[in-house]
Amino acid sequence: MKTTPIQRPNGTTDDAEAMIESLDPRDGSVVGSVPVHGADAVAAAVARARDAQSDWGALPLPERADHLRRVRARLAQRADELAAIIAAETGKPDFDAMAEVLNCALLFTHAARRTTKVLAPRRVSSFPLYTKRAEIRYRPHGVVGVVSPWNYPAFVPVQALSGILAAGNTAVLKPSELTPLTGVLLGEIVNSAGRDLVQVVTGDGSTGAALCSSDVDKIAFTGSPATARRILHAAADNLTPTVMELGGKDAMIVCDDADVEAAARAAVGACFANAGQTCIAIERVLVTPTNHVSFRDAAVEAARRVSVGPDRSCQVGAITQPSQIDVIEDRLRSAVDAGAEIVVGGRRRDDLGSSFFEPTIVDGVRADMDLASAETFGPVLSIMPVADLDEAIETANDCDFGLAGSVFGRDRSQTASIVEAMSTGAISVNDALATAAIPALPFGGVRESGFGRLHGDAGILEFAVPTAVATDRFPGLPPIASMLFGTWRPRPSQIGRVARLLWDR
Ligand code: NAD
Repeated sequence: MKTTPIQRPNGTTDDAEAMIESLDPRDGSVVGSVPVHGADAVAAAVARARDAQSDWGALPLPERADHLRRVRARLAQRADELAAIIAAETGKPDFDAMAEVLNCALLFTHAARRTTKVLAPRRVSSFPLYTKRAEIRYRPHGVVGVVSPWNYPAFVPVQALSGILAAGNTAVLKPSELTPLTGVLLGEIVNSAGRDLVQVVTGDGSTGAALCSSDVDKIAFTGSPATARRILHAAADNLTPTVMELGGKDAMIVCDDADVEAAARAAVGACFANAGQTCIAIERVLVTPTNHVSFRDAAVEAARRVSVGPDRSCQVGAITQPSQIDVIEDRLRSAVDAGAEIVVGGRRRDDLGSSFFEPTIVDGVRADMDLASAETFGPVLSIMPVADLDEAIETANDCDFGLAGSVFGRDRSQTASIVEAMSTGAISVNDALATAAIPALPFGGVRESGFGRLHGDAGILEFAVPTAVATDRFPGLPPIASMLFGTWRPRPSQIGRVARLLWDR
């Protein structure tokens, strides 16, 4: 096997001639190359998206839904091709790559099913102006700029695109510089359904910055909080609205009456899937003395069974950005120096290539360690022993991130009260990751995990502008506004009397 050291693009040039090579992290081979688009190319893409938007946004909702079904059919037809490029650019196993394509199709299915209902004009009470008919109509924003990361290079853009397109917008997608070819192919597949709905611009952060400073009508960003801050500064100049899907440091709470075996297997699955490079990976497990040892033993046993390597049938593939392995090692070293114990794994697997790391479980992690607070984005599960459930909840919530979480326990009233107490955008009970696999549920976080929602009805409404319309119910009555300066208007004392009549009791 080829083990060429992997070099990732690091130029931030705005030169249209500059190219980025996309490398397969499993062996460093070149998958392909794309241009670094500068501001002019970005502006041209936004203009093309704007041209396409007027027709698309004007399409009756049932026709729009039909077109989304055609997009889904195209995804299904070209699933093998899309999964192959995902696997090549990220180094994830075939199973993970194909599951990603399936999840894309599910999101388009949901958007097609719901768009006619969610976006239909909606009558509301016209209280207190009973002479009016009040209605909410939903309009598209226009063109949405989508800036995406590399960890799920098709699914993450589709999380936004399904809602963006359903709401009648078109999009300009800037995929990660690590996975640009997946973005290009995704755009091509969506557009092959017969409408030019997604323009793709390629490049590094400079291209993303150009897109966020362009005249797009909304920005949908998924990535790190540091980049989000830069984008928000740029968006402030044009007052461009944004939706931000950022990092996570998800916690699982294991109650005393939990099925410990099931919790351990779920923690291992939800931490090591995609080599831990999942924003909603379980990175912390909070466990009381009752289950501490049994949970640890079961998790270690489950972790030992996980296969790692470049073989496409392995369960854990590559660390897509091999330099991240240094970060993982630093975190582990400092945790061990501070008293934590690596109970399984903990080593890079140079024998397999330059981008593989063993599934790792660390016990005795405390809240004051980096391993407990900073996103690791690698296959490392931290066990944090706590005295009781109160401390578990407090520790879970005492975190800059708040994306998703998990609780395991048999007593439903106890798990329900933990659901109430956990401060995250999503919680799975007796499971993990489950909320993200149900397209009808909203997806998004609190605190540094971001704001706004994708998936579900909320993920369609996120990209629609609710427009208020008041129509006269009885033609011939004088306009309300004309009373403001008309010959008759109520005296302040009369208005006060009406208010007391209505609300004084
Ligand atoms: P990143 O923030 O480094 O990059 C994300 C994207 O932003 C890339 O396309 C990059 O080119 C672009 N970019 C960089 N600088 C920019 C700028 N100044 N203006 C505009 N765009 C710019 O993130 P990453 O390393 O690609 O992804 C990992 C992060 O993404 C992790 O924190 C992970 O948790 C997060 N993530 C979150 C979700 C979610 O839904 N909440 C999903 C997947 C990943």
